[in-house]
Amino acid sequence: MKWILLLFLISLFSSCSKDTKEIYIDNTQTKVERVILLIGDGMGPIHINALKLERGNDNFIFFHANSVATVKTRSANSDVTDSAAAATAIACGKKTNNGYLGVDPDGNELKSIMRYATENGWKTGLIVTSEMTNATPAAFYSNTESRYNDNKIVNQLIDSEIDILIGGGISNIKQGMMTETLRHRLEENNYSLISDIADFDSQNHERIAFFTQEYGMMPTILNGRSRAFIPHITEKVLNRWDTDNFFLMIEGSQIDTESHNNNLSGVVAEISDFENTARKCFEFASRNPGTLVVVTSDHETGGLTYSEQFLINYRLTESSFKFLTTSHTSSPVPLYAFGAGADNFGGIMDNTDIFRIIMRLVEWND
Ligand SMILES: [Zn+2]
Repeated sequence: MKWILLLFLISLFSSCSKDTKEIYIDNTQTKVERVILLIGDGMGPIHINALKLERGNDNFIFFHANSVATVKTRSANSDVTDSAAAATAIACGKKTNNGYLGVDPDGNELKSIMRYATENGWKTGLIVTSEMTNATPAAFYSNTESRYNDNKIVNQLIDSEIDILIGGGISNIKQGMMTETLRHRLEENNYSLISDIADFDSQNHERIAFFTQEYGMMPTILNGRSRAFIPHITEKVLNRWDTDNFFLMIEGSQIDTESHNNNLSGVVAEISDFENTARKCFEFASRNPGTLVVVTSDHETGGLTYSEQFLINYRLTESSFKFLTTSHTSSPVPLYAFGAGADNFGGIMDNTDIFRIIMRLVEWND
């Protein structure tokens, strides 16, 4: 009887590890031909642990990464970065002042990795749940000394030549431009502007823009955004490009929003959505050798930490974590890399290293 039980356990264990290997193969040594960068805005190490408690170790996609690193986040003028300076460091490889987008502390324009991708003939895309003109996506196409210079940012977005734009709030993208003008200008630049995401697959245009109809960001998950939406559209974009060269940035924008709100269930819902999206990317990278997936964050928000309650039951409950602030903190953030070139990431990194390592892997000169 003992032997039967043992054989059952061995077969159960081997079938689990076999499934894991089949889905998440090791292709770290292949040449990098596609890059998917996922930025969980405001996602610190304790945020990750909150979701891990819900998912469990084996079913947590970040733990299938080939490499793990810790990333320092300070900006040029502050130990506590804002999203603009952090995204500029990641997108352009240079430290800048808080509030600056795509320019150095002296105001000199920087070229983003998204721009390098376009110039090298790669397809490019941004998928975010904030407005497309918000700081994190804007650092990939904008050059301005103020993240609040909405009119300039939206004009730079329209001229960016980024192929796929999916984000929130077509009604006055951050006050930058009225909807009809935006529609007209996008169409002048060969974008197909769709109002229903169901129309995405039938578009023949290389350039597609979709913005939700509401003002501002997309709704948070707790306020009604479908849990399927971002993972589903990510899958559609990946399938559309398939084996082409591409650079895609996906932001879990509202992990930050819910952290500023000190709303733990909101934080877990947004990271869960982000993790489901990352899962689609890991699966795509497994099927398509040459795909690098990098998951990281721009900074920690909320000073999220464990409460005394957590030390009693080690479970995820509303009272097992507490926030220490409604602002950003200087905590380092995690980075997980999977697929081609993933083993080039590791140890203690600076946020500017992300740009530098990807540029080297895709063999573009800075
Ligand atoms: Zn941020």
